[in-house]
Amino acid sequence: MVLRFKLRTEDRVSYDISKDQVEARIARNRPWFVAGTERRDDRHYAVCPWCDNPIQLKALYRRDTIKRPHGSHTGKPQAGVGRFDLSRQLNCPYRLTRQPGAKDDRRPRSEDDRALIAFVRDEFDRIVLTLRRDLGVSFSNDAARRMLQSWFENSGFLYRHINFRNLPWMIVYLAVPLNLYRQKGFAEEIKASIQQKVSSAEFDQAGRLQSTAPWLALTLQPLHHRIRRDPDDRIEESMKLWIKDYSRTNDPSRAPLIHQAVVTFDHDRFERLVATPPDRARRDDDLLEIARQILGEP
Ligand SMILES: [Zn+2]
Repeated sequence: MVLRFKLRTEDRVSYDISKDQVEARIARNRPWFVAGTERRDDRHYAVCPWCDNPIQLKALYRRDTIKRPHGSHTGKPQAGVGRFDLSRQLNCPYRLTRQPGAKDDRRPRSEDDRALIAFVRDEFDRIVLTLRRDLGVSFSNDAARRMLQSWFENSGFLYRHINFRNLPWMIVYLAVPLNLYRQKGFAEEIKASIQQKVSSAEFDQAGRLQSTAPWLALTLQPLHHRIRRDPDDRIEESMKLWIKDYSRTNDPSRAPLIHQAVVTFDHDRFERLVATPPDRARRDDDLLEIARQILGEP
């Protein structure tokens, strides 16, 4: 049961499927509303925010049903609504039968690429804001630039499980590991792990990670992207974070693990950030400029 909808493929914000939201946003307008010969045959359609396929909105009015309002993939094209793409539908979190595979599990190039890249270009400052909070380190704009560059060069937008809702986390997931040397603004628990386990590490007055040894190579690497449906049919998506010490070895199996955590994606929070009205939004022009330099002008 899909629990959120949007109107158009290119929409970056979605809504709960409820009678009120559907009445406010679709009402009896085409192409989303299709009148039946009798009122009970009326149908509402919308777009699944995870896979952009058409969904039919069900159980909006019937009170005698045990099912709450929800969407169900139509499994075929619906005139004017979304874009039917079976392979994307099979990878929709609501249809997924197995966990995401390796990071190089890619889909063929398609018209979706441009929409994803445009989204990153327009929202890169908010993506970075989300990641700085969730990763527990206020990495610099230069680090953000390297992250985006490697994501783009590795065609991270082709990862089979990327979509508008999980975009921020999929950027760091598919980029080169983040080098923590000289970064600052660490969450307390990360700082404590580093202080406890890396004897040459120290933090200066600004909270910047420094080293008393000539060489310190601490990297933060996301892994194990996981997608689950909870018992209420909400999508729970997460990844692990590992901070490892590569100062003495390049071998991942021998590099000491300094800290680990699990990041659970708050898709709705990111969407609310994207939906901030322009007069209340605080944008970071430097980060937006970095994104334009790497991804190109619209
Ligand atoms: Zn879907």
